Parts: sequence; structure tokens; C-alpha cells
Amino acid sequence: MKSVKKNWRADDLAVPQVRSMRAYVPGMQPEGGGWIKLNTNELPYEPSPSVATAVAEEVARLRLYPNPTSRALREFLAQKHGVSPDEVFFGNGCDEILAVLMRVFAGGGFAAGMSQPSYTLYPVLAKIQDAAMETIPFPRNMVLPVEKIAASKANLFLLTSPNAPTGVEFAYADIRRAAEGFSGVFVIDETYADFASDNCVRLLKELPNVVIARSMSKSYGLAGARAGYALASAEIIALMDKVRDSYNVSRLDQAVALAALRDEPYHARLIAKILETRASFLKALRERNIFVHESGGNFVFAEPSSPSQKPGAATARSCYEFLKENRILVRYFPDDALTDSFLRISIGLPEDMLRLLEVLDTWRKNA
Ligand SMILES: *Cc1c(COP(=O)(O)O)cnc(C)c1O
Repeated sequence: MKSVKKNWRADDLAVPQVRSMRAYVPGMQPEGGGWIKLNTNELPYEPSPSVATAVAEEVARLRLYPNPTSRALREFLAQKHGVSPDEVFFGNGCDEILAVLMRVFAGGGFAAGMSQPSYTLYPVLAKIQDAAMETIPFPRNMVLPVEKIAASKANLFLLTSPNAPTGVEFAYADIRRAAEGFSGVFVIDETYADFASDNCVRLLKELPNVVIARSMSKSYGLAGARAGYALASAEIIALMDKVRDSYNVSRLDQAVALAALRDEPYHARLIAKILETRASFLKALRERNIFVHESGGNFVFAEPSSPSQKPGAATARSCYEFLKENRILVRYFPDDALTDSFLRISIGLPEDMLRLLEVLDTWRKNA
């Protein structure tokens, strides 16, 4: 008879890919006050005031299950983007969109692909599906490797545009060429598109293999709510609906997301404020001869240096640590030669950026 032995370990029973995988490490969420938090690209502003009203009203209905398809949201977003409601999927954050796509199109011998550097959750999601992940490195100038992507044999390709963590925006024509040449499902993670000069929604009308993934965490100031969506052909959306949780978005999250989407003027003001702060922060870094990529996101990717310290991994780490000692949190990605001399800095309040520059100047004098 089979029985539970003394040395029984759950670890021995986990499927091999889970047993050997490393979990995604989210940016630090510090306890206690006094921090300037520029490490996870959250907005420094509150969401639309109509969100609070929507939550208060929804509380009375919390005993009831939510609408299983987030129907009102799909209808609103279809209007907003000029597609039909069956071409919209609503999810528990963009992360769920990515996980669902990975579940449908990767694993069981089907590989996923991504460009590198990019969102570090992608390889984790591939690993959960036991899918191989093909990575295509960017050249140092971060120009999109169109031919290499088009030639990839992956079943599902994930492109972050504007890119994270670099902030670099890719030309529509280049993305189009990569997607058109690629034979699998081509996902464009447009989490940061609201801060960019262009996006790829119109590509949906041209190519059947494109999926646009969006998040409401960053540009709507709703990271704490968990809301994101996908636009794709009705066929792709139907496949995604097969494998999601049946009630994947809570009543509160649906109400919050709809209220925020309906207050478009407020959203436009949030974006305008971030773009203004981003422009002056970029200028301030360049005045200090610090290399920084042009950014289409609510963050910048800067390569710290000082008159006595050349850019490099040790310099970036020293700057990161100095900022942290001064209670300013930014994000450092030491595991890749394309990112280890840079820091990713979210755009916060104008005064947050001034404080950061002040601490940076102290570091530059003493580094
Ligand atoms: C933040 C981020 C996400 C996650 O979005 P959520 O809606 O919070 O799940 C997805 N993709 C990229 C590139 C991100 O930076």
C-alpha cells in the first residue's frame, strides 16, 4: 500500500519545471514611510476621484459573483479602440494576460521567444509552462532586431514596446515588419503606450497574428487594483477565454477600471504631468553628461557616471546603493551585460526628481 513516509517532501512531487524554477522577484515595496519610491513605475498621483465612488457603490453587491467576462469593460474598450467586443479580453492585470497567452500558445513542445532585455516576468511564465524561451538580444543601440525576430521559430513572441526597462520606442514600420515576417502569435506588450508617441493598435487591422497587451497599473494609477486587457482577433480572444479563471476579475476591480476609463480627461492630465516631468528630468541628466535613452514610458533608463567614475556595473551599483541609503529606491538589473551599467528610474512627482538629482549630485562629487 502506498503511504505517506516519514521523509515525505512536497518538493519531490512538484512537476520538474516548477521544482527547478526561480520565482519572479518584484521590485521592493519598502515598509514604513520616508521613501521616494521610483522602482516599480507606479504613478505618483491618485486615480480618478470617480474610482472611490464606484468602489463605494460596488461594496453593496460584493455577495454576488462578478460578471464572468467583464462585459461592460470589453464593450467600453471596443468603442475606445475601434474594434468589436469579441476582440477584447479583460484580465487581472497585464500579467494575467501574459500568463493566459503563455498557457494557450507555449509549452507542450511549443517555444516562446522574446527580445533581451525585456520584462523579466516573461521567462518565468514560459518556465511554468515548461516551454523553451528563445531570447534575441538587442544590439547596444537598442534598435529592433527585425530580421532575427521575423526568423524566430518560436510559437509565441513577446515584444515590449515601448521597451522595459530601456524605455526605447520602436518605429511602427519596424514592428510591422517583424510581426509580418513572424509565423506565430506576436504579442506587443504596450503597458507603457499611453506615455509614448505612437502605438500598434492599427496593426490589428492589418495582421491576424498580433495581440496588443495593455495594463492599467501605470498610466491610470491603478497598480493596486489589478486591471489589464488584450486586443486581438476574435479567434485568439476565444482561446484565451477558454483557459482563464472563470471569474478572473473581481467586482471591485471591474468597477474601478470602468470608472477610471470613463474619466478620460483626468487620465489625459495624468499623462501630461508625467510627460512634463520626464522631459525636465531627461534634460537635467543630460546636462550632467549622464547617458540616458530617449523614453516612451513613465521611467528613464540612465547610465550613471561622474567626472571620476566611468559608466559600468560597479558605478551603477554604487549609485544605486547611495540613492538607497538616502531613501530613494530605483531599479537595478545586474544580471545582464546590456543593463548592468544602468538604473531604471520611475518618473515621480517633480519634487521627487529634484531630490533625486540633489542626492545624485552628492554622489557624483564623492564617487
Ligand atoms: C508593469 C508591467 C506589466 C504588469 O502590468 P500589470 O497590469 O500590473 O500586471 C506588464 N508588462 C510590463 C512591460 C510591465 O512593465
